[in-house]
Amino acid sequence: MRVTFLGTSSAVPTRDRSLSAVHFKYRGTDFLFDCGEGTQRQFTHAGISPHKLDAVFISHEHADHMLGLAGLIQTLNMQNRQQELKVYGPIGIKRYVDFFKTLGGLKLVYPVTAIEINGPGKVFENLDVEVHAFPVNHVTECYAFKVVEKVEANLDKAKLKKLGLLDSPANRQLKEKGEIEWQGKMIKLEDISKPLKKPLQVAYVIDSRFDESIIRNVEGVDLLVIEATFAEKERESAKLGGHMTAREAATIAKRAKAKRLALTHFSSRYSDDMSILKREAGEVFKKPVFAEDFMTIEV
Ligand SMILES: [Zn+2]
Ligand SMILES: [Zn+2]
Repeated sequence: MRVTFLGTSSAVPTRDRSLSAVHFKYRGTDFLFDCGEGTQRQFTHAGISPHKLDAVFISHEHADHMLGLAGLIQTLNMQNRQQELKVYGPIGIKRYVDFFKTLGGLKLVYPVTAIEINGPGKVFENLDVEVHAFPVNHVTECYAFKVVEKVEANLDKAKLKKLGLLDSPANRQLKEKGEIEWQGKMIKLEDISKPLKKPLQVAYVIDSRFDESIIRNVEGVDLLVIEATFAEKERESAKLGGHMTAREAATIAKRAKAKRLALTHFSSRYSDDMSILKREAGEVFKKPVFAEDFMTIEV
């Protein structure tokens, strides 16, 4: 899995940092998480084609996380995209997407579908990955996302034997249909199979206060991308604005036993000197990565 930061600033762009946007690639799957204004130019700079995007996931309706979508939808139209673009976001996102789709009397030549997320759970699935959404604690409805690799599973022979299914032709049916009725009981494939390896997981948690529920939701991820807007001395204003300090973000990573941590969404007040954020996060989590625009992390 490859994660590329296209924008790492909160609220306003700075000389070196554009607004929130993270590109994700795994095999034939391309995602964008948030699309702040200026994201199109960041795509060009990073040498990534937005044409390959399968879906855009918008965390919440603050302008610095979604205004870039208007231009992106129009550019893809101008360049004759054919493939459907799916846009996921909280309830209300459809209203914005529908507005962007018709801005200036635009007639779209490709389908753009807005899908509103209403509670935690799986929101997207293809052959390579699943995407799960879960709500976080911001000043407006906001979702975090976790991409989970799809891993092939083998039938667990011990469990099959116990059920008397080991040498049965029903085995094949089970593999094909995903479930069968066996001796009066429904047997599901996932109940009697074990994955060949642990699936890779990348979580994107942006614009949230510190919240215990995040720890549960990102437990054991291979990479946690998370907001670190402020330093500890701004902790109260972080809470008021629905944000976290770098140390709080590092605490989530540590308690969730994330394998790697990438911090992003920094307040512009630290644009000349990030040392305080680095020190405070580094005291809690060993070697956190401080994301910069165009930085790439391979998982
Ligand atoms: Zn933000
Ligand atoms: Zn926000």
